[in-house]
Amino acid sequence: MSTLTPPKASSPPIARVIVDVALDKEFDYKIPDDLRGRLEPGMQVKIPFGHRHTEGFVLGFRESSSFSGLKAISGLVQEDALLSPSILKLAKWMADYYMAPIEQSIKTVLPGAVRKRGASFKKQLFATPGEKATQEVELAPLRKQAPKQAAALDILLSGEQMLMSDLVRAAKVTHATLRSLEKKGFIHIAEGVQGRDPLAGQEFLRTKALELNSEQAEALEKICRGVDEPTLKVVLLHGVTGSGKTEVYLQALSHALEKGRGAIVLVPEIALTPQTVERFRGRFGEGLAVLHSHLSDGERHDEWHRVRKGEARVVVGARSALFAPVHNLGLIVVDEEHEGTYKQEESPRYHARDMAVLRGQMEGCTVVLGSATPSVESLQNVLDGKYEMAKLGIRADDRQLPRMKVVDMRHQRYEGKPTLFSSDLVEGVRLRLNLGEQVILFLNRRGYSKNLTCPECGHVPECPDCSVALTFHKKLGYLRCHFCGHAERVPERCPQPDCKAKDWQYMGSGTEKVESQLGRIFPQAHIRRMDSDTMTSKHAYHHVLGAFRKGEIDILIGTQMIAKGLHFPNVTLVGVVNADATLHMPDFRAGERAFQLFTQVAGRAGRGDVAGEVIIQTYTPTHPAVQAARRGDFEVFIDEELEARKALYYPPYCRLICVHFRGEQEQEVDFVSSQVYEELNRLLGGDPNINLAPPVPSPIARIQKNYRYQMIARVPKVKQFTRPLRRVLAHLKLPRQVQIVVDVDAISLM
Ligand code: ADP
Ligand code: ZN
Repeated sequence: MSTLTPPKASSPPIARVIVDVALDKEFDYKIPDDLRGRLEPGMQVKIPFGHRHTEGFVLGFRESSSFSGLKAISGLVQEDALLSPSILKLAKWMADYYMAPIEQSIKTVLPGAVRKRGASFKKQLFATPGEKATQEVELAPLRKQAPKQAAALDILLSGEQMLMSDLVRAAKVTHATLRSLEKKGFIHIAEGVQGRDPLAGQEFLRTKALELNSEQAEALEKICRGVDEPTLKVVLLHGVTGSGKTEVYLQALSHALEKGRGAIVLVPEIALTPQTVERFRGRFGEGLAVLHSHLSDGERHDEWHRVRKGEARVVVGARSALFAPVHNLGLIVVDEEHEGTYKQEESPRYHARDMAVLRGQMEGCTVVLGSATPSVESLQNVLDGKYEMAKLGIRADDRQLPRMKVVDMRHQRYEGKPTLFSSDLVEGVRLRLNLGEQVILFLNRRGYSKNLTCPECGHVPECPDCSVALTFHKKLGYLRCHFCGHAERVPERCPQPDCKAKDWQYMGSGTEKVESQLGRIFPQAHIRRMDSDTMTSKHAYHHVLGAFRKGEIDILIGTQMIAKGLHFPNVTLVGVVNADATLHMPDFRAGERAFQLFTQVAGRAGRGDVAGEVIIQTYTPTHPAVQAARRGDFEVFIDEELEARKALYYPPYCRLICVHFRGEQEQEVDFVSSQVYEELNRLLGGDPNINLAPPVPSPIARIQKNYRYQMIARVPKVKQFTRPLRRVLAHLKLPRQVQIVVDVDAISLM
């Protein structure tokens, strides 16, 4: 028996390599003998490329290549693969399912800060005690002759090692003092790696597990049983705002750690506030890594490697933290699972919640989807028996849910004209300000183009076939359905038989208008606006939230940015200025989103000792989403919503794929989209399960000089559509000026 292992003859000679420049292609490279059998997918390699050298990732292997004159891999960038087999599998799966280039997919699962050439740890000098440091015979003379050195040594001896610079500061000595200690053999000084900690300099109070109420305990039990098993289990944790979902997560995470398993917690980027991080840090200390887009490259690199090395076993982060290299993953928590921001709006257009379930399946772990307002998709999965449900129906802190009041704006006039603020809201704000309490006013600005509302009866013109509000196109002067393309003239009178009013109101006032009008009513109040126009940096965001927390701001006006997970005990009134902007979005999810939003916004009120109040202003007070939010009647709302979705063949009863066409010449965009449509129609022809609508201009018809068309397919299974689409795109000779973007499981139809 030989102790030398010869190169494995059976291992394939060719590697599929993805080159780290923006190319949607895999390249074949010969594997040199010294790497045969050693190379693994996910390894970073050095390769000749054209006339230069660059780096790439090994995606897989093959026996032969159709290319002649293959070049060989010249070496490894690192010894071990940066991508684990399961993350690599996930990346490949995403590329296929979401029709994204594999290279984009790899970039998504591996942060640039880690992938980049030259990414490395920051080296710094560390001091550690030497042997003499504990020998009293040596120490006694030192204390006498060099008391400062002895004192520094004492400080060092209270721990294992210290950064030189920290020790200098703590002992109030110079570097030279430490160098003489080194010379005398009391300490060693060596270069080491210092993790760049994004939370450095912040103190966190360690917290202990709270005693759970019976609902929480039951939910925890359900989750922990999953963590104990090596298979996928999905638990939908449906708990009203303030019901203590986070405490359940924390204890479930502790359980996973006790079982030797790691965990990931996803929160929407916007909810990743210092407040949220604090709660997790408080429980897990150094064992927690934080990953999100506001970290510096250095911080991200270090956090990622702390996870990879197993130094941090719990990761909290936004969407892409799902791909963190956690070993023996036991639990993934997706908080606010209904949030649309979990869908990435660039290639690969993946949904982090869905990918969490997929990763859970690949790694045999438990996935918890938490929300006060779960998505209909997840609820349907519960009904289908795929997910388990755990419910938290009461607030954990015994505080009452806020009182909700719906104000009918049809009857609100100021000096005879329709007004932005009802008298209820104005008086409510006045009262709260007098009491020294705080107010949040919420306004959805995402309604970019205005829909019509009858100011007399509240009627909103809708598409006859799609049950979505028609959008008013000012330039063309007509109403259009952004779903099927149906178009009609603006009716001269309200079509409601018992109304027939003559004037239409064009809905949609922005946060800016609200800010200035409110300033006129309350000239003494400190008012701040928080939306994507004013919040251009993370500092601005933290600054305003900090000022609000300190009470320096009385009224905070904002978009969805302020609807999420914030906890301000002194906020006692939350106003939704124009609920209609959310209700009548040209999207079949409008009702669901509105309900979620009202419920979430309401959750911001009354988180302190004073009971909260919510005022929703709307021209359609009878809308089911408004009424359900007012009554807090989730079940009824969902039942009706699911019924409607089923009848109209919308998700979750089908898969929806949106194909976008973009280009500077409208005729070309039109031409290309029709061609693709016709070819597809020919291939799919007559399949009654497939509903492919002809291309229509997108709701936002032109962005940055580009005309936009879209084509929506509704199918039982995604592959039934993406397979033929791939074929069509490969065969048709389409003008390159038109860009085609495929959005699988689209949630934004803009
Ligand atoms: P959610 O995540 O469901 O919105 P939180 O976890 O933020 O709810 O809990 C709301 C408040 O209730 C927090 O202040 C939390 O500390 C407190 N809380 C949670 N669970 C308990 C419990 N079992 N006993 C006492 N207080 C609790
Ligand atoms: Zn329509």
